[in-house]
Amino acid sequence: MRIAVVRESHPGERRVALVPESCGKLIEAGFSVAIESGAGAMAGYDDAAYRAVDAVVEADPQGLVQSADILVKVNRPTNDHGRAEVDWINPATIVVGSLMPLREPRAMAALAERRAIAFSTDAIPRTTRAQAMDTLSSMSSISGYKGVLLAAAELPKYLPMLSSAAGTIFPASVFVIGAAVAGLQAIATAKRLGATVTATDVRPEVKEQIESVGAKYVGIELTEDASAGGGYARELGPADQSRQREMLIDEVARSDVVITTALIGGVFAPKIVTADMVRSMRAGSIVVDLAADGGGNCEVSVPGETVEVDGVRVMAPLNLPATVPEHASLLYSRNLTHFITTFADGGSFQIDLEDDIQAGCLIARDAEIVHGPTREALVSLAEEVPDE
Ligand code: NAD
Repeated sequence: MRIAVVRESHPGERRVALVPESCGKLIEAGFSVAIESGAGAMAGYDDAAYRAVDAVVEADPQGLVQSADILVKVNRPTNDHGRAEVDWINPATIVVGSLMPLREPRAMAALAERRAIAFSTDAIPRTTRAQAMDTLSSMSSISGYKGVLLAAAELPKYLPMLSSAAGTIFPASVFVIGAAVAGLQAIATAKRLGATVTATDVRPEVKEQIESVGAKYVGIELTEDASAGGGYARELGPADQSRQREMLIDEVARSDVVITTALIGGVFAPKIVTADMVRSMRAGSIVVDLAADGGGNCEVSVPGETVEVDGVRVMAPLNLPATVPEHASLLYSRNLTHFITTFADGGSFQIDLEDDIQAGCLIARDAEIVHGPTREALVSLAEEVPDE
């Protein structure tokens, strides 16, 4: 089968879906790989590196998509940004990438209309067997790391304790809200930089994980279980929300940096940090809202922008993995390669819906949306009453 990689056209995107190392592995497994000239350039992988592993470098993205048996992408294919990727896809083309189906269900319907076979790696079950294919974890970890670096660069203070002839400087306090993959990496990064770190989550099992990476856990006893299965959280009920808010008022006010990473069902961001909490922080403090791609955890966050409220800067960066493009691409590419080679037989990808990984992450096939949550999201969109 022919695997095709095109340059990502999404504004601000610098990653590439396959790096040369992975192309070599896929070619060894019997596939052919063709890549658009310059597709890896912004991530530090030039055409010569692809040619060196026997990938074919071509100039025409349309020809690449049309000739692909498997199209691998970082972002979902679109007809925007000066390209008509979706329209170029032929029936039965296998599309693999972090398609984020619930954030843009209509884009999945467009893939179904093209009769593509679409797999979204962020719907892969969070099992031990699937770990090596888990793009969500690889990318979340980068966001957690980079979020702390952004805060450190903006904070008008040191993060670590420092003793010098001019006296002692005490460490900055960092508070992390939501401690799954991104949050735990944020804690570890802030600890490495010498900050005092506190963290919270709503799933009780996370307390031990927070402590194992060296942070202090704070939390409330919930009246209702907040676990939604698969390690994901559900939205807190009104009583628990108000008790959590009480707890957060003090924690946020005393922190120099607040990093938020909370998501419901891995997709949508609950509003947790209120505008009043932001105002209660000392001037110069920083909030980094790492849930900005899902709408943001902070009431005043503007996704993609930094806003200032009474001297507190609230950063809501989008797509942080694209700011670490070399390693983000390397990890993403390895995840996709594991996915493809796990189901490969003699250079051919075998569709097997008895397999829990494929069944979990297949979004569209035979002109239909087969992924239950995406289907439900499309039904909800269809039921929305248009504005007068
Ligand atoms: P996520 O991005 O969906 O959520 C981030 C965190 O926000 C979660 O820990 C959640 O409990 C928390 N949260 C939600 N609402 C909150 C609130 N009101 N206040 C505070 N925190 C709140 O998480 P993720 O990184 O995608 O990980 C989801 C789960 O999958 C985790 O349990 C993780 O350990 C697990 N996981 C398993 C594997 C594997 O086994 N292969 C791989 C990766 C992740």
